[in-house]
Amino acid sequence: MSTETPLDLKKTINLPKTSFAQKANLAQSEPVRLEKWNKLDLYHLIRRTCEGRPKFILHDGPPYANADIHLGTAMNKVLKDFVVKSRTMMGYDSPYVPGYDCHGLPIETHVEKGLEKKGKKKTDLSVETFRRICREHAENALKSQTRDFKRLGILGEWDNPYLTMSNHYEAETARMFARFIERGWVYKGLRPVYWCIRDQTALAEAEVEYHQHTSPSVYVKFPLQSDPALIDPALAGRKVFVVIWTTTPWTLPANLGIAVHPDFEYAAFENGDEVFIVASELVEAVSAKCGLGEPKVIARFPGSKLDRLECRHAWLDRPSLLMLGDHVTLGGESDAETELDVSEAQKKTDGKAGTGCVHTAPGHGHDDFVIGKRYGLEIYCPVDNAGRFTPEVEHFAGQRVFDANDVIVEFMRERGVLLFSEKYDHRYPHCWRCKNPVIFRATPQWFIAMDQVENEQRSLRATAIAETERVKWIPGWGVDRMRNMLKGRPDWCVSRQRVWGVNIPVFYCARCTEAVADPAVIDHVADIFEKESGDAWYTRDARDLLPEDFTCKSCGAQEWAKESDILDVWFDSGTSSVAVLENRPELRWPADVYLEGGDQFRGWFNSSLMVGIAAHDRAPYDTVITHGWTLDAQGRAMHKSAGNSIEPDKVIKQSGAEIIRLWSASTNYFDDMRGSDEIFQRVIDGYRKLRNTARFALGNLDGFDPKRDSVPVSEMEEIDRWALAELNRVTKEVWAAYEGFEFHNVYRALFSFATVTLSARYFDIIKDRLYTFAPRNKARRSAQTVLLQIGDALARMLGPILVFTADEIWENLPDRKEESIHLALLPTASDENHDALLGEWERLYAIRDEVLRALEDARVAKHIGSSLEAKVILKASGSALELLQKHLKDLRYLFIVSQVELGNSDAGAGVSITITGADGTKCERCWNYSTRVGESATFPTVCERCVLALQEIEQE
Ligand SMILES: [Zn+2]
Ligand SMILES: [Zn+2]
Ligand SMILES: [Zn+2]
Repeated sequence: MSTETPLDLKKTINLPKTSFAQKANLAQSEPVRLEKWNKLDLYHLIRRTCEGRPKFILHDGPPYANADIHLGTAMNKVLKDFVVKSRTMMGYDSPYVPGYDCHGLPIETHVEKGLEKKGKKKTDLSVETFRRICREHAENALKSQTRDFKRLGILGEWDNPYLTMSNHYEAETARMFARFIERGWVYKGLRPVYWCIRDQTALAEAEVEYHQHTSPSVYVKFPLQSDPALIDPALAGRKVFVVIWTTTPWTLPANLGIAVHPDFEYAAFENGDEVFIVASELVEAVSAKCGLGEPKVIARFPGSKLDRLECRHAWLDRPSLLMLGDHVTLGGESDAETELDVSEAQKKTDGKAGTGCVHTAPGHGHDDFVIGKRYGLEIYCPVDNAGRFTPEVEHFAGQRVFDANDVIVEFMRERGVLLFSEKYDHRYPHCWRCKNPVIFRATPQWFIAMDQVENEQRSLRATAIAETERVKWIPGWGVDRMRNMLKGRPDWCVSRQRVWGVNIPVFYCARCTEAVADPAVIDHVADIFEKESGDAWYTRDARDLLPEDFTCKSCGAQEWAKESDILDVWFDSGTSSVAVLENRPELRWPADVYLEGGDQFRGWFNSSLMVGIAAHDRAPYDTVITHGWTLDAQGRAMHKSAGNSIEPDKVIKQSGAEIIRLWSASTNYFDDMRGSDEIFQRVIDGYRKLRNTARFALGNLDGFDPKRDSVPVSEMEEIDRWALAELNRVTKEVWAAYEGFEFHNVYRALFSFATVTLSARYFDIIKDRLYTFAPRNKARRSAQTVLLQIGDALARMLGPILVFTADEIWENLPDRKEESIHLALLPTASDENHDALLGEWERLYAIRDEVLRALEDARVAKHIGSSLEAKVILKASGSALELLQKHLKDLRYLFIVSQVELGNSDAGAGVSITITGADGTKCERCWNYSTRVGESATFPTVCERCVLALQEIEQE
């Protein structure tokens, strides 16, 4: 450089330079990166890279292949991707095989509606054709879901997912049913199940949902038939009635008994010449409600006194048996309508309806069934598939049960057996699909027995509960939730009166009706399914499905009928651990982790546990993680119709998939997750801050060659060593958070590192050094060495979450080693103790905060313009003075001012701060003030630091 030519000082400043753009343009850049990954075949490249490492298996719960994805589905898949990617970067081989749940009622309903639009009925088609349309619908839906999941940056075996409708999977489902039979856990029986009268099918527990519903609440008197003196001598010769209460008058024609609690006290009270029996505690309430005047109690006795006495039905000529049951409460409803889910039951027992004498119809309730069985009552259910009374029902034959409610109330009023009726609001089970109220109805169904014990084995329930204690639940309340669910669940009804599913592979002898549920026969059928799919059940005759010359053991006949029911879809998806984990070489049984929403305690967590125990006496998972619901900002469920839903598709088009990913990491997913436009705007702001942080590091690495230019830690500036110590600290935090699946803590740690530690402190302070020092100056290289480590570590730690951006950072680093961030590992933290260094700098930053406040005040008072126009005069004593003296040389950079003076104060603790104008004149190059500007004849407009820098530059 010649001194003759005028020097362009601006050109001697090292301004940041990087192709990592400030504006992300994610909506445009993400698809380009996806295409790049696609060309690389990144997922399989990762598989090859991870070969030989310890496995970590997250087993995907299959989303239902019906509709497009919503924010909740997106969040679920993104969280799983966080797990898989973080475990991969922690050094595991973590393959991800996504799945789809393809059978079941929602698709059947959808297809039926489609047919209706064309003026056709399901019955116009052959079952095979109907199933083909269902299959096509599922195929289309899963194609579009796959496209959406890939767009979210989720890597996995997308070209070869598991489908519950694949030949192999259908065969495995059938085989699994055989395993249950081998255990002696399968039976066919008449039992009350949830029944949808619109869809005419049994429903699993996971298929009912609770909504407010108004029912007629009735108090009805049943005349005591047995001698009342058997209860208490005071009742001898009296007209005694037992008062029941129910909210389902339509079940009264099926009443066969009345249950009381053996240990509760009951009372008989007079009204005129009639005597009524209710629980003592409810005498006042019942007599007030029923207008029976001031009750005069004439006898008190324990419920056990009523055991096996008989009433007469309120209007039919048949007995109603008094029975003892612990399920009786004083809160009102207590039969199975009040659900097996404890939390639901608790919601419903508020308020004191009821009489303590529970109307019992064994064909219409779970508890009713259990107690009815115990007392030898018939499982009587005079209601058909469509919810109509059968012809044998006097007075009401042919009526639909919900319509019959009011008719029965009026009928009882006329007969004088109704004491009181009113409208009653309660939570009532509804069909999850058609949203209509469901009924409890006894039908012949296939069941898996929860309590059957054979050959000294433990029952399914006992093993399941024991396994629940062994599994790790995150959050921890999962163990109670699961235990309660298992304790309360009735036998698992696995048959469905539908066609889109895996048929129950059972045959009936055409002559003697003997059922053949034989594991060997089922395995034979499963082999046919494996080749031809489950459609073979319809395309082949029974004889072509059975082994050759299969003969009825009871009667010797060879004519067979096929079972027409299909298996519960929860049986399908529950089979996945066996059908997928055991059948794919890259996976293994059991899985390390299942991760799903809280609704799966009743659903997939539960059915998977049953199947795991039938197959291997063990839960198919070691850890179960639960995420919350996606709600709007006010905590309400999102609905397109309510206008409060966030559509992933829209977010992706406007802001990029990365924003959905960052949102999923930004809140604690163990709780419900809130989403709204405003919340997403905050996430976008957060993204910008992270991006800018990375950009600063990358921009200042222009021209840095790590091999040539790196400065060893021992020779670094102290603040650079401080930044590395902070990086080490945050690395430890991030590891621990990934380890515990606490992605919100990963985000929190990295966000505060980026915005506070780096942006507000470190970067702010080192800017002067990076920009104004000669490019190869060692102090500048020291900062760059740190910036490279920071950029590298940020890319790695953000890798599982910001999959696109981290890869982009990675690409722009001067010495990236792997082709993609997703082939790299998380940074490792050192165990070196940096506490002294971190503590000392924490004290310096506390003083800095005070100085920055004082500078801000001076600026507001217009005493100074920029902070470089200021001189800071500090006075301190003791250890503060010592600390400041030690760092005196650094203080002007720490405060970003031109001069700092330090003096001794006699004022004791604390640092006094005075701000004055800086001495000297402004350097044209670095804008610092100095009294030495003009000393150099060569560079007359710059300060002494810049003179040195320019001389160095000339020599470079
Ligand atoms: Zn329904
Ligand atoms: Zn036979
Ligand atoms: Zn200067």
